[in-house]
Amino acid sequence: MQITLSAIKADIGAIGGHTRPSDELVDLVNKFVQKKSKELLIDYYIGYTGDDIHIIMTHKLGKDNEKIHKLAWDAFTEGTKLAKKQGLYGAGQDLLKDSFSGNVKGMGPGVAEIEMEERPSEVFCIVAADKTEPGAFNFPFWRVFVDAGSNTGLLINEKLAAGVTFNVMDVMSGKIARLKLWNDKPELEAALMYPGRYVIHSVYSSENDHILSASTDRLHNIAGTYVGKDDPIAIVRTQKNFPATEEVGSAFNNPHYVAGNTRGSHHMPLMPVKLNSSASINYSIPIVSCLVFSMHEGKLTGPHDGFGTVDWDLQRMWAAERAMIMRNQGFIHPATLIPEELEYNKGYEARLAKLNEKFQDKDRINSPKKKKN
Ligand SMILES: [Mg+2]
Repeated sequence: MQITLSAIKADIGAIGGHTRPSDELVDLVNKFVQKKSKELLIDYYIGYTGDDIHIIMTHKLGKDNEKIHKLAWDAFTEGTKLAKKQGLYGAGQDLLKDSFSGNVKGMGPGVAEIEMEERPSEVFCIVAADKTEPGAFNFPFWRVFVDAGSNTGLLINEKLAAGVTFNVMDVMSGKIARLKLWNDKPELEAALMYPGRYVIHSVYSSENDHILSASTDRLHNIAGTYVGKDDPIAIVRTQKNFPATEEVGSAFNNPHYVAGNTRGSHHMPLMPVKLNSSASINYSIPIVSCLVFSMHEGKLTGPHDGFGTVDWDLQRMWAAERAMIMRNQGFIHPATLIPEELEYNKGYEARLAKLNEKFQDKDRINSPKKKKN
């Protein structure tokens, strides 16, 4: 059976800052989708990671379908009205356009979609992050599909050993490079080295099965200026010819430093968290949650909370400790991003403009005029 899985997410307001949506807001989005779902969807699930609400939908209408995207857009628009009424911070901040125009891509919300021939036991993970950027997934997804040190499946699963194809987006130009393992490994790694610029968009098996889809929009490129953090969401199909569920989950077990956090201007580790977790107010440590689903004829069972078991408390503590190690460095790079990546860089530009006025030739600084006696 041909099924499309659509994961669409947006930040439309949070309690007291960039923490989490209100219960009433999640409830409203849920009821709106439920009411409209009857004619369009087979099934759906709604939850949140930090201040981002995600709508997971299954249907038969294919990728980039106007009706499906409009359903999500309308749910977020309705939610924004309540967010404003409640005085939630950043109400509607990810809805960058006034009216819907056929597809939510480029309008603010993040989208990951896979159209698939459903397997008898279709299983997949959805990873949803907050307080970071799409490139935050570069390292864990490299671990899943390229690094046998992280994933023995690359050696002992014939299909994975054959090598996958990565589509990597240059988020500045919007162009995509197709890189096939194992020949293109060095070029792939050269791209993944800079997560602020090059981002994994999708992954296909050697038999051209769509395994992974990730949202890649950078909001500042959409609006022309910074308006919010472009927190990513990704779908990864697992088991059989694809990576095992635990090979995907464990790729997040070494909290690596990513861009984002407070004012979107710092580097901090990506902390695995339980489903429907709030963002931390300890300088907004980046977070990622993992929704594990089974699906049959488009009907969802789950989510199981991928990072909910007790062992992940260890990784949470590592992340908290690594966060403090970086925060102890204060404002000095690499605790902070490079100037071009500083999201509120108008303020930083103003500081630099004043600073530049004070720069003069070193001779004038070194030989101040002597006072005459
Ligand atoms: Mg967010």
